[in-house]
Amino acid sequence: MMKVLLALAALLVVALCKETFEGHQVFRIVPKDDVQLSLLKDLEDMFEFQLDFWKDVTGVGTPVDVRVPLDSLESFKSHLETRDVDYSIMIEDLQAVLDQEQEEMDSAARFAQPRNTDSYDYYNYHTISEIYRFQDMLVAENPNLVSKVVIGQSYEGRPLNVLKFSTGGTNRRAIWIDTGIHSREWVTQASGTWFAKKIVTDYGRDAALTAILDNMDIFLEIVTNPDGFYYSHTRNRMWRKTRKPNRGSSCIGVDPNRNWDAGFGGPGASSSPCSETYHGPSAHSESEVKSIVDFVKSHGNIKAFISIHAYSQMLMYPYGYTRTAVKDQAELHAVAQRAVSNLASLYGTRYRYGSIINVIYQASGGTIDWTYNQGIKYSYTFELRDTGRYGFVLPASQIVPTARETWLALMTLMDHTFKNPY
Ligand SMILES: [Zn+2]
Repeated sequence: MMKVLLALAALLVVALCKETFEGHQVFRIVPKDDVQLSLLKDLEDMFEFQLDFWKDVTGVGTPVDVRVPLDSLESFKSHLETRDVDYSIMIEDLQAVLDQEQEEMDSAARFAQPRNTDSYDYYNYHTISEIYRFQDMLVAENPNLVSKVVIGQSYEGRPLNVLKFSTGGTNRRAIWIDTGIHSREWVTQASGTWFAKKIVTDYGRDAALTAILDNMDIFLEIVTNPDGFYYSHTRNRMWRKTRKPNRGSSCIGVDPNRNWDAGFGGPGASSSPCSETYHGPSAHSESEVKSIVDFVKSHGNIKAFISIHAYSQMLMYPYGYTRTAVKDQAELHAVAQRAVSNLASLYGTRYRYGSIINVIYQASGGTIDWTYNQGIKYSYTFELRDTGRYGFVLPASQIVPTARETWLALMTLMDHTFKNPY
């Protein structure tokens, strides 16, 4: 009885500390002309409305999604209306969607803990401890195929676990995949978990994957920003950045996808610690980034690097920090086109593709710009489902379909890498 009471008390404490998004709405605004475009751009640097851009300002005619807290709803609406800017509401009450998400997680958690990776619930979101346990089970079940490499630790001291899929050899050509570097993009860590199981299931059964793994290694980091991920489960579902405090500011964290040494600090990254795109005090200042940098450099034989985000349904290659086209542009573009068409063949999900700067916007200090400049030709980044109906709070029922279709694109990229050694 005491134990139950303590557990209930603990739950209550967690519930009380959690940031609420009651009454927060997610707006969609489509700038009609250059005037509206620059008006929206100004909003990005304006902290008075406490806006959280889910989908950044890019160009005329391209939707911008923004979360507006309850307290600034009225002032924000009149700000738009007096300037004749149209908007629609994508999410009426964010907390209602989050409550639904939490309820599904809680009811799934009531089942006994999975004893193996076959009984793991791929159709639900999971905490970091559940995912770490999954990784250990997968390694234990497949000792000849999977091992766990700890490439470093997060700011708060969590292990940075990478699953290594290998059938032998020494320092084979390798493919890197990471999910969840932005912690709130939950469908990515969930998909990464599904990919891990898919790899062990298909090896020896699927000819293409078997050929790849007979010659190459695959490295998969599922929880790439563990502190942020933990925080997104326990305190603030909308947390994107790392959790390292910033000197001289009360705002916490750095955007780990602006922290790489590729055009670091340039346009498309913020120098304000309170911004969601804060680049950090220096390149590779975040241990979650630096650990990958060190791993990539010391490995020296990584031939494809795929970094997975959500949302917007896009597949992109470098660059983001400069308009200069990469020298492999034609090949990267053609492979991306095949990948998205294979992805669409399953459920008809449509992806846009191209270089980051052309498909989204100028963004500096991004992961794959750095990996490409390190000589990793097949550097790609995904933005998974959806296009904004749910944004970061994609219903758990869409996890497996998202993972399945994405896998077809991943296989296209991996197979091409395998068959085109360089
Ligand atoms: Zn992201």
